[in-house]
Parts: sequence; structure tokens; C-alpha cells
Amino acid sequence: MEPINQHFTSTKNFHSTRLKGKVAIVTASSEGIGLAIAKRLGDEGASIIISSRKEANVKKATESLRGEGINVEGIVCHVSDADQRKKLFDTAKSKFGGFDILVSNAAVNPAVSPVLETDEAVWDKIFDVNVKSAWLLAKEAYPELIKRGGGSIVFVSSIAAYQPMEPLGPYSISKTTLLGLTKAIAYEVVRDNIRVNCVAPGIVATKFSSAITSSEAAKEKSLSIVPMKRLGKPEEIASAVAFLVSDDASYMTGETLVVAGGTYAHL
Ligand code: NAP
Repeated sequence: MEPINQHFTSTKNFHSTRLKGKVAIVTASSEGIGLAIAKRLGDEGASIIISSRKEANVKKATESLRGEGINVEGIVCHVSDADQRKKLFDTAKSKFGGFDILVSNAAVNPAVSPVLETDEAVWDKIFDVNVKSAWLLAKEAYPELIKRGGGSIVFVSSIAAYQPMEPLGPYSISKTTLLGLTKAIAYEVVRDNIRVNCVAPGIVATKFSSAITSSEAAKEKSLSIVPMKRLGKPEEIASAVAFLVSDDASYMTGETLVVAGGTYAHL
């Protein structure tokens, strides 16, 4: 199986400063796709608040981004925890005077099972983190974005939103829900100069996807649906998010960008 389009390395030298003066909150950003998004938005000039559940992870990522010259603050925030979400927003206000961009990136998949064999507690956990927290983050960010005169929200969904991945049924459904959440909120806040979009990554090599990417056999099976025959890189998702939150996407709202190596994506 020959990978196709392997030319992507780094676009650092080509980065614009189109996010200069903006402040961005990125959840679940101490590693993987979230960290790549934080880095990319920071490289493009935004000040960043990164967060995740574990303090050690947040500290390490904050130091690494500062080492790259990014203006960043880190704070612990489990997205299901109301107090921690408040502290996240308070940090943006106290350190940077507010924020313009929210990237809701957290998701869990605590157990793998067919939809009709899923425990109720597992279903509740998936929907609590992947959907309810995304909604609450947007709801709580909304008044702050109005104060700024507008802004941008991006939800991180998945290619699994379009075609449930066996055996990630409940997780896939949670990601489909984000497509609806994106459209619903986008229409409600369009009058406030707030754009709401979504990105649906394909299979990206991170800890999260290791079960379907770590062994050669699992990888081969996963790539059978990917025309480019390779895994995505976190940076390739980050560049799509940077576009969506920038003025380059000023006429886009309620949309989902699929970044999945050509994988078929249709509801
Ligand atoms: P990852 O590399 O495993 O990173 C997960 C990040 O989320 C870590 O920083 C983790 O840090 C944090 N985190 C986990 N649970 C959290 C919670 N409840 N609250 C706050 N932070 C939390 O995962 P990833 O692959 O980058 O996934 C990021 C997003 O992309 C998810 O929404 C996922 O569904 C989506 N996605 C991934 C793929 C893929 O193939 N990788 C494909 C499609 C979509 P702590 O442990 O410190 O909390």
C-alpha cells in the first residue's frame, strides 16, 4: 500500500500573522490535535490558553509552546467540570483581557462496543464530554464573544460523524451530533458577528487513535477507507482550524471541513 501525497512536512516558514492580536482558547490541548492547533494559532500570532485534565501535561505543553516563542497560558480544565471551565474563561480574561476564538476539541471514548451493547454509563460519559461539554463551552463563551464584538468557535468532530466506525458506534454518534450543534449555534449567533464551524479529522496518528493505528494490521485496516493511504498529521488538522478561525473564512459559518485524506464523507 503506497502512501499518496507525502509532501506535507511543516508550513512554519509560510505561516502568516493573520491571527495577530487575537486570543484563542483551545481545550484538550496538552497533546495531539489540540496541541497542534494551539501551536498553529500561536504561530499565526494569537495568544493562547491551553488546557487539559492533568496539570503535569498542561505544564509540559505550556513550556514547550513558550519555547517556540508562543504567548501562552496553561490551566487545568476537565471540560465536564463547571468550576474548571469557569477558571478557563477567567484565565483568558485575567491574562489576556478576554478571548476571540474557542476551539472545543475534547472527546473521550471510554469503551468500545456496538451501539446496542453499550452500557448506559459509557453512553452518558461519551455524550457528557463530547457533546454536552462542547455545548456548555459555547454557551459560556457566547457572552464573552459578544463583548469582543464577535469571534469564532470551532468544534472538533470526526470522519466517524459521517459513517459510524465499527466498533466506535456511540462515539461516532456523538461526533455526528456536533455537526448539528455547529449548524444550530451558527444560525443563532450569526447576528452577533460570531462564526461557528467544525472540522472533521480523518484518522490521525495520536494516542487517541493508537488502538486502530499502532499495529501494522490495524493500520492497514484503518487505511482501507482512506484514498491517500496514509494517516493524517495533527498539523494538517491544525491548519484547517487556523483557516476557519481566520478572516480568510469570513463568509463561512455552520460548515464542517472534512480533513481526511479523501475519505468518503456524506450523511
Ligand atoms: P490525544 O492525542 O489522545 O489528546 C487528547 C488530549 O485531550 C490530551 O491533551 C488530554 O490531556 C486531553 N483530554 C482528554 N480528556 C479530556 C477532558 N475530559 N477534558 C479536557 N481535556 C481532555 O487525542 P487526539 O487524537 O488529539 O483527539 C483530539 C480530538 O480529535 C478529539 O475530539 C477526537 O475525537 C478528535 N479526533 C481524533 C482523531 C484521531 O484519529 N486521532 C480522528 C478524528 C477526530 P489530559 O490527559 O491531560 O486531559
